[in-house]
Amino acid sequence: MRSDPAHLLRLRERGIQITAQRLAVLRAVAGQPHITADGVAEVVRAEIGAISLQSVYDALGLLVAEGLVRRIQPAGSPARFEDRVGDNHHHLICRICGRLVDVDCAVGSAPCLTAGDDRGYEIDEAEVAYWGRCPDCLAPDNQAATTHRATTQRKKRST
Ligand SMILES: [Zn+2]
Ligand SMILES: [Zn+2]
Ligand SMILES: [Zn+2]
Repeated sequence: MRSDPAHLLRLRERGIQITAQRLAVLRAVAGQPHITADGVAEVVRAEIGAISLQSVYDALGLLVAEGLVRRIQPAGSPARFEDRVGDNHHHLICRICGRLVDVDCAVGSAPCLTAGDDRGYEIDEAEVAYWGRCPDCLAPDNQAATTHRATTQRKKRST
């Protein structure tokens, strides 16, 4: 296994017992932001061999609880995981192709965390999702979903 000082350090700082599986899960999340648990399992299996989906969930759960990984779950999508934590950034999600990208909190440093009235709560996260259509799906020659693109283009060429 490739040695990875940054990831090792982050686990050690939190007093998390370092295992090959946890390290591989953290690396999978770091290498592919907004990856699903299934995706993590695939990457980890390719890297260190067999791992059960339950072990992936356990490792992800621990990393989320320790604040090393953030879990987001847009409506209608499986949970996604990323290692960009602590900045309260939000996500842009395409309704058509499902592509998901990071977007910084509105303006300045996390203004969404400053509620008009916090009702005495200590707020640490604002779950904001911007839904819409991505540039690819907005392109005039590409109104259909990506899967339809090929057929559309083929039709155009044959006429
Ligand atoms: Zn799209
Ligand atoms: Zn993100
Ligand atoms: Zn915000």
